[in-house]
Amino acid sequence: MWCISDFEIGKPLGKGRFGAVYLARSKETHFILALKVIFKSAMEKAQLEHQLRREIEILCHLRHPNILRMYNYFHDQTRIFLMLEYAPRGELYKELQKKKYFDDTRTATYMEEISEALIYCHAQKVIHRDIKPENLLLGLRGELKLADFGWSVHAPSLRRTTLCGTTDYLAPEMIAGSPHDENVDVWCVGVLCYECLAGYAPFEAATRLETFRKIREVNMTFPSWMSDGARDLISKILNRTPSLRLPLKAIIEHPWILNHSSSDLSMRRSPM
Ligand code: ATP
Ligand code: MG
Repeated sequence: MWCISDFEIGKPLGKGRFGAVYLARSKETHFILALKVIFKSAMEKAQLEHQLRREIEILCHLRHPNILRMYNYFHDQTRIFLMLEYAPRGELYKELQKKKYFDDTRTATYMEEISEALIYCHAQKVIHRDIKPENLLLGLRGELKLADFGWSVHAPSLRRTTLCGTTDYLAPEMIAGSPHDENVDVWCVGVLCYECLAGYAPFEAATRLETFRKIREVNMTFPSWMSDGARDLISKILNRTPSLRLPLKAIIEHPWILNHSSSDLSMRRSPM
């Protein structure tokens, strides 16, 4: 079993709701990783221990190039430590803020990567439920890494909601409080595609209520610079009715994705 003295602790990578994340290196092998520290007291206060345990068990078993790996975990008296794959290029959210919006190639590549990650998850009966740029990290070559798994079931990541008062990625059935399935993730892929290309989410509004109304009505307009191919894809994903949304397997076969994606995955599928 691992313990904290097995690691040299480096710079803080970010702050979580129940602790912080640090760059770390294993003393024995010099392996670099991200160590997420969660305070047990904070978890207990929020009554999330069971949830955390379940999510840890799910994450430990997921292996995909576009899902942030969790290598292992351990705990001491006061803290839980998650040994996570280090994502050197940080958050997609920050990239998007910096660049304002992404071009077709970059966005299509992300769309393919996230779709591949979700096809894998859904095959394992895991629904992410909390896809948004804040929960997407970037690997060494800029490849997408889906992080913050399954948390949203009992603990929606409140970062955006508290900071900006937005609920932009909620699917219509979530707002309605109806039962939902893996199609909520598909909805989020559509919202993400829009936000990457536009620089803002499709249903952004002054108030939460207004956003909810727009989501329910799928009331969106496209910015002038968005290409027809992207508009077609987004329109086919963002369907009010969960079962009518373009399936993930069809998203990665959509002409706009095939024409623009430069992910390693697409290279493998259609060698030059
Ligand atoms: P929660 O898990 O409770 O939702 P959170 O979303 O606030 O908490 P994380 O997303 O896990 O916390 O981590 C906080 C921040 O630390 C991230 O937004 C990211 O910037 C950074 N970070 C987390 N994990 C990694 C990692 N593996 N590699 C690089 N940076 C990371
Ligand atoms: Mg997060």
